[in-house]
Amino acid sequence: MQLLLISIHHLENYLLDSLKTELENFFDMKITLKKDPQDLSHYFNPQRQQYNATKLLAHFKKSYSKHPKILLITNQDIYSQGLTYVFGQAEVDGKIAIISTARLQSTHLLERALKEAIHEIGHLLSLEHCMNRFCVMQLSKNTQNVDRKPARFCANCSQILAEKLYLSTTESHKL
Ligand SMILES: [Zn+2]
Ligand SMILES: [Zn+2]
Repeated sequence: MQLLLISIHHLENYLLDSLKTELENFFDMKITLKKDPQDLSHYFNPQRQQYNATKLLAHFKKSYSKHPKILLITNQDIYSQGLTYVFGQAEVDGKIAIISTARLQSTHLLERALKEAIHEIGHLLSLEHCMNRFCVMQLSKNTQNVDRKPARFCANCSQILAEKLYLSTTESHKL
């Protein structure tokens, strides 16, 4: 599997490079880091002072249509319809996901961003939310939730993932 990590606002190089390396090691996959800050004011809601995550996903899905798996990263606050804010959003078993570091700021920023990135990539690889407290696929509604969960999948999610990755490898071999 290959993943394209796109920084859509001006994030620190240290964070981007560290995240890339950590994710490459964790998933044992190649990640390409791309910096593509652009005028996204069209997707900004001035009343909420937040970007609409669903619209950002649609925009970048269109402009990077050739890439099978994409993770966007922003330092701006994002929301989904019906929710005050989100740390991330993904198409389950889909092509594109996003994480925001806006509400993860602390001395543990890298650790928190890594957990949310693993969580959203888990969604891209078909995982749903998990009830296991010791699983990164547990839904995080606040930073306490993020800090409490580990940066790894539970046995059950790991197995689903292993089957999924095995399937996608055999499928691509058929082509
Ligand atoms: Zn989730
Ligand atoms: Zn799990």
